[in-house]
Amino acid sequence: MNVSDSELVESLLIKEGYQPTTNINKANLLFINTCSIREHAEDKVHSQLGRFNLLKRNNPGIIIGVLGCMAQSLKHDILENKPYVDIVLGPDSYRKLPDLLKRHEFDNKSLVDTKLSKFEVYDNLFPNRKNGVNAWVTIMRGCDKFCSFCIVPFTRGRERSRSIDGIINEVKSAVKNGFSEITLLGQNVNSYNYEGLSFHVLLDKIAKISGLVRLRYTSPHPQDITIELLKVMAEHDNICNSIHLPLQSGSNKILKRMNRTYTNTHFINLAKKIRQILPNAGISTDIIVGFPGESEADFYETLNVMEKVKFDSAYTFKYSPRKGTKAMGYDDQVNEKIKQRRLEKLISLQSLHTKQRNENFIGKIEKVLIEKESKRDERKWSGRTDSNKWVVFEKEDAKLKDIVEVYIKRTSGVTLFGEIYKKVKAA
Ligand code: SAH
Ligand code: SF4
Repeated sequence: MNVSDSELVESLLIKEGYQPTTNINKANLLFINTCSIREHAEDKVHSQLGRFNLLKRNNPGIIIGVLGCMAQSLKHDILENKPYVDIVLGPDSYRKLPDLLKRHEFDNKSLVDTKLSKFEVYDNLFPNRKNGVNAWVTIMRGCDKFCSFCIVPFTRGRERSRSIDGIINEVKSAVKNGFSEITLLGQNVNSYNYEGLSFHVLLDKIAKISGLVRLRYTSPHPQDITIELLKVMAEHDNICNSIHLPLQSGSNKILKRMNRTYTNTHFINLAKKIRQILPNAGISTDIIVGFPGESEADFYETLNVMEKVKFDSAYTFKYSPRKGTKAMGYDDQVNEKIKQRRLEKLISLQSLHTKQRNENFIGKIEKVLIEKESKRDERKWSGRTDSNKWVVFEKEDAKLKDIVEVYIKRTSGVTLFGEIYKKVKAA
């Protein structure tokens, strides 16, 4: 989401005559797009702002801006303690940026706008995308689910969806500009609802856009995964066979306290349904350990769901208390040592499952979209299967963005290794 928002801001600034630079010492504007989801993300912003301040001491003309989710919570800290920050803008106020930059020429007080909007979806404002394989297209913003651990409904405001026409125009333009893959984005992408039209209707329309090679979406909420959605995914070859299905916890007691609206049985059945309708679908997840009140037995229930579903991969987090959320007020917080021990156990179980799931691919031929050069070996390409697994193989005569069939020979655990069997579609 933040990459996509940064591309929007970049596009606004380019319209004002600014140009992006990779050399920070040459920049006149330094903006940081922030995330408040966990404390660690916030810490990184504070240290980056410290570095910006040093640059400004040598060049007082530099304008420093803080954008995105932390704007709201940092507003007071900035006004009181960080006078070197010139502009603070929340995630619904990016359109104000050109205006504020003009105002800043006459008024060098910190300029702040963190109001959240019920309507802003940045329709008709196309992001400035780097040349690449994948284009992010935001289809909805905000969240109304209010999970008790999560800051998003407070920092990003109410759920709202973009018009189907606006989205389709943006996808068409990205495809015309050479992007092979589109990833639809939203805090709860499948809660999309525009004038009564739901996510599966939108997905079906987008999949039919000619020239679109691959279509992905993230992050869905398990509650809004419908049979219609799975059917649309099964009907279109270009919709990737992978679903991110955030579990958060496997204990019904904790799920209820988290306000997650599903039980472990509902979740396990949903995963089964996904694999029934979309055989070999890659299923990834997010899991939090150490949510307030999580006992050893609750934690074991999470491991139990993992055993039953066998996720292909997982993003795992220690619970991080966020100011203003309901869970922050719970008086049975779990101590850090226990959180760390649980996290390590979870990671090691997931590594085992990832390896097992990946071993099923050995000896198979998989269609891979070539996305970049392998970081470890410039003679090799790296790309993903439609089930979202990274595959590394000798380049031979294939090019970036080609789709190739790769014979899978082995796995290191996370990554698959193979050799090109044949080129299916040239870029
Ligand atoms: N809308 C998505 C998740 C978006 S946030 C969903 O409902 O699943 C991305 C992930 O960050 C969450 O899935 C959760 O696992 C993690 N997260 C959010 N708040 C957190 C917190 N306070 N502490 C630890 N992890 C958190
Ligand atoms: Fe946060 Fe996702 Fe829950 Fe919304 S649904 S509150 S974004 S975890």
